This record gives sequence, C-alpha cells and structure tokens, in this order.
Amino acid sequence: MSCHDIGLGMNEVSKEILEQYDKGRVTKSAARRLLYITGCAVNWCDGNEGEAHAYFENCRCGNCLKFIEKGEKLYSLWYISREAGDSWDIEKKYKLASGRLCTKCFDRILNNYCKDPSAGERERKHIEEKASPREYLSEGEYPSGNDIYEWPER
Ligand SMILES: [Zn+2]
Repeated sequence: MSCHDIGLGMNEVSKEILEQYDKGRVTKSAARRLLYITGCAVNWCDGNEGEAHAYFENCRCGNCLKFIEKGEKLYSLWYISREAGDSWDIEKKYKLASGRLCTKCFDRILNNYCKDPSAGERERKHIEEKASPREYLSEGEYPSGNDIYEWPER
C-alpha cells in the first residue's frame, strides 16, 4: 500500500520552492532541480511522484517553469506513444520538475530525445487524439489545498 504522507510533505516543499523562485530567491535551474528531487524523494517511502508535484504540475511547465493560463496547452508526457519512449525515462534524463510541459518545451525535449525534428509535433497530436483534455490543457490555477488539507501558515 502506498504512503500518501511523504507526497503531502514533499508537495509542501514543492510549493515553497516555487514561491522562492517566483520571488527571485532561487534560480530557475536550482528550482527545477529541487522540484525534480521532491519527486525522487517520495521513494524513501512507498510514495507517489505525482503527489509531490500536485501543487504545480497542472498549471506550470516542468521544464521552463512558466505558469500556463487556463486552457492553454500543457502536455503530459505520460500519454506519449510507446514508440516515442518512456515518460519516466524522459523526466529522469532531462531532470524535469514534472512530466507536464508547455508546447515549446515539449517539442524541444521530444525532438531531442527521439532524435527526430518532428517528434514533438507528432506526439502532441497523439496526446490530443488519445488523452482527455485535462492531460494536455492547463488548469490555470493551483489547488486550493494540499490534497484534502489546508495549507498551514508558515
Ligand atoms: Zn516550458
């Protein structure tokens, strides 16, 4: 049975990292690396990477960290075709903050990973045909709490 507590804890750290990044106190590459690590760190217990990234993965790009407005494209690597590769392998290779990417980053990373200049465009079409819109559109807002819990004052 998986542990949700470690994901909740890491999700709070993810929130703090992005708040510090948005205040200019952490560089983009440091923030991305730290967010990548909050996902890895759930493995100290039987946690879920997605829970560590629940704060931001549905509204920010996992590579450039840009906030993506509601309804704008934010593709989930989870839904790329089997021929294109494995989403975990891509996240680890590029040390992504999450597996959700804006169009520009999605194309750049998929084209590089597949060594094919049209891979990104092809995989975006694949996702839009096969997955539900919530897997390629930004929610444009952060969740109101940490799963079912309120964010604590710090
Ligand atoms: Zn991006």
